[in-house]
Amino acid sequence: MIFVRDIRLPLSAPQGQAVESALKTLRLSRRLVEGAEISKISVDARHGSPRLVYTVAVTLKDKGAETAFAGSAPCVAVIRQKPLELLRGTEKLAHRPVVCGLGPAGLFAALLLARQGLRPLVLERGPCLEKRVEAVDRFFEGSPLDPQANIQFGEGGAGTFSDGKLTTRIGDELCGFVTRILLEHGAPADIAVRQKPHVGTDKLRDVIRSIRGEIQALGGEVLFDTRLTGLIRREGRLCGVQTSQGQIPCEVLILAVGHSARDTFDMLMEQGLTLTCKPFSVGVRAEHLQSSIEEGLYHAAAGHPALPRGEYQLSRHYGERCVYTFCMCPGGQVVPAASEEGGVVTNGMSYHARDGANANAAVVVSVDGRDFGQDPRRAIGFQRQLEQAAFRAGGGDYTAPAETLGSFLEDRGRLELGRVQPSYARGVRACRMGELFPGELAELLRRGLADFDKRLPGYGAADTVLTGVETRTSSPVRLERNEEFACRQLEGLYPCGEGAGYAGGIVSAAVDGLRVARAILAKYGEVAL
Ligand SMILES: Cc1cc2nc3c(=O)[nH]c(=O)nc-3n(C[C@H](O)[C@H](O)[C@H](O)COP(=O)(O)OP(=O)(O)OC[C@H]3O[C@@H](n4cnc5c(N)ncnc54)[C@H](O)[C@@H]3O)c2cc1C
Repeated sequence: MIFVRDIRLPLSAPQGQAVESALKTLRLSRRLVEGAEISKISVDARHGSPRLVYTVAVTLKDKGAETAFAGSAPCVAVIRQKPLELLRGTEKLAHRPVVCGLGPAGLFAALLLARQGLRPLVLERGPCLEKRVEAVDRFFEGSPLDPQANIQFGEGGAGTFSDGKLTTRIGDELCGFVTRILLEHGAPADIAVRQKPHVGTDKLRDVIRSIRGEIQALGGEVLFDTRLTGLIRREGRLCGVQTSQGQIPCEVLILAVGHSARDTFDMLMEQGLTLTCKPFSVGVRAEHLQSSIEEGLYHAAAGHPALPRGEYQLSRHYGERCVYTFCMCPGGQVVPAASEEGGVVTNGMSYHARDGANANAAVVVSVDGRDFGQDPRRAIGFQRQLEQAAFRAGGGDYTAPAETLGSFLEDRGRLELGRVQPSYARGVRACRMGELFPGELAELLRRGLADFDKRLPGYGAADTVLTGVETRTSSPVRLERNEEFACRQLEGLYPCGEGAGYAGGIVSAAVDGLRVARAILAKYGEVAL
């Protein structure tokens, strides 16, 4: 694919002009072009009247001819998709490989194993998507939390109820393979070219179901409502797993349980495996009007129909800590994301259209093993304490504690609603948000929020709603693995994805699933049973 960047046009210019300009830069005739689409639009409002700055993605009918355009102009770049290279091993597995967890990491690992004929057996503690959506809807409407079927657990994993942002900084060639699979399974076509692709929770659900269908069609099996509860070993290597539905013999287990599987982390530690602490972050979810975010980003161009919904990412270091925004959802809603009874957790999701009135993003401050004496149990305990404190502050019925920003900066504990109406489905209740966090962290959140207003005008508006607490930003623990992606402490166990500490986000988790599956395929050729 050829990208032509930095095409600057006035607001009034039709988008087709950007495409024409790209083809002119490339000196390309239309008849050689398979597709030419807008990949990115930003606004340059620095000098006089704002201009739109386009990147256009061009594909040729003859893909082999694309490389010739590399370096043809400073604004031209060529990105080639490499085919997935696989080595196949010769060892024979007595039993099918087991994949634990059907989030992006487990889903993509299972898909690759299935495509290579290893017929994986997938264990998922939560229900299938249809039942999970029902359970989440019931919880949103006021029913008790189901600890096995919620925003964290169930088919599709943590990102199912999300914005479905596919941005990642990992720069792995497998990212292209993930995009291709998502497209094959019905994701919107523009994810192939957009610089900040997103799917939306509505469309993502169908994609997940469709990938699971392919795994099953290739001989894989998915056991829903089946929780991994123990590892069975013989002579220092894995020979089976204990589940909530009984024992299953296996020599290979991909452990892709996500960052919220605290009971599974406990089980691993009780069985003598060493988990280490890794950095994560905690804070609140900030809600603004989407229109005010766009005014801050696009200035006089805000509201122009050519512009995408405004997104932002802000960060600021204070000594060894960083305050940053995370998982921004344009036109989205704040969702109740707890998976344990007696805790309140926030996160964000949006539909493909991103047409809600509010923008939301986590505003979090980093913590790491030094805060917890390098003890993973203390790190998990810290997350849980924050969630339980938020539960109590909300009144003990999953209402979330909230405070408007003007009040938070002055520590007044008030919810002085103005233009922004909180979107959290279980309702919010005024509280002193600063009291939920250790003093240093609360103070840094205040400093960060005040400083972000200098970067994005309007960010610090007094009626910005802060809802809490945001604790599940990434896994607090890691299970170390070797160069072959296997656990250093137990042969046959393959830690994978976000929960094991090797990913952060949908695409990086999917890529990690592929990496682990590739390592297993490089060792094993076939399955006996
Ligand atoms: C509301 C929300 C919005 C998000 N938005 C985005 C976004 O827009 N873009 C983005 O890149 N990332 C987003 N994320 C983060 C992203 O979802 C995660 O990074 C990603 O899902 C991690 O993938 P994973 O497969 O490693 O783990 P998970 O997705 O957490 O999947 C783990 C799976 O394992 C299952 N499991 C756990 N324990 C067991 C057990 N003992 N036995 C059997 N099964 C078990 C769980 O039920 C779960 O299905 C969001 C997360 C949330 C919660």
